[in-house]
Amino acid sequence: MEIRDKILVVEDEKSISNFICTILDANDYKYITAANGKKAYAIISSHCPDLIILDLGLPDIDGMEIIKMVRSWTTTPIIVVSARSREKDKVEALDLGADDYITKPFGTSELLARIRTAIRHTRTSILSKEIAQSGKYCVDGLVIDYDKYRVYIDGVDSNLTQHEFKLVALLGKFAGKVLTYDFIIRELWGSTQKTDNQILRVNMANIRRKIEKNPAQPRYIFTEVGVGYRMIEGD
Ligand code: CA
Repeated sequence: MEIRDKILVVEDEKSISNFICTILDANDYKYITAANGKKAYAIISSHCPDLIILDLGLPDIDGMEIIKMVRSWTTTPIIVVSARSREKDKVEALDLGADDYITKPFGTSELLARIRTAIRHTRTSILSKEIAQSGKYCVDGLVIDYDKYRVYIDGVDSNLTQHEFKLVALLGKFAGKVLTYDFIIRELWGSTQKTDNQILRVNMANIRRKIEKNPAQPRYIFTEVGVGYRMIEGD
């Protein structure tokens, strides 16, 4: 029998907490709940959950502080579920180390998809940090060949430049996750000093011209406005 993943739900609003737990229960996840930050801390250190679903507006400690604390000693995935919809909040949460960010109100299938992605990514990183950097990533006609440094669309080489390839390769490695502009810039150019997002936007526009049938309505790489980019996830 498969071991069921244990999810900690940190949420002070009873109705939302119940809603999330009902979804988890119906989909064979185990769950524990915490209605405030202090209880969340205690559970995280004593129960080692496989994933944390985190509200930001808690009565005692702000959720951002919890992300910081958790990230100082564990890589347990964190999905922020918050009413705060400003880009600034999403960027802050993701840069502090949250794995994903869902804005309330949200749908059942959206939540489940994000949970699967977050859990899968920890598994791969535990198994092997390098696994996604060799071999191929294939989804819906797009193939990233990590060994040949090439991206193919329906079997045809997209002729990406080196930087364009690196950007697509990075998004492919974290497919399904939003990567913030800062994270991408840091990974690709090795520094955040005075980098603006312009260079990234130009690269992305060029990539989309090469890999998307309709660059205005991309099907492989999505823009999270003001936050970053997300590559479509394969099966
Ligand atoms: Ca709240």
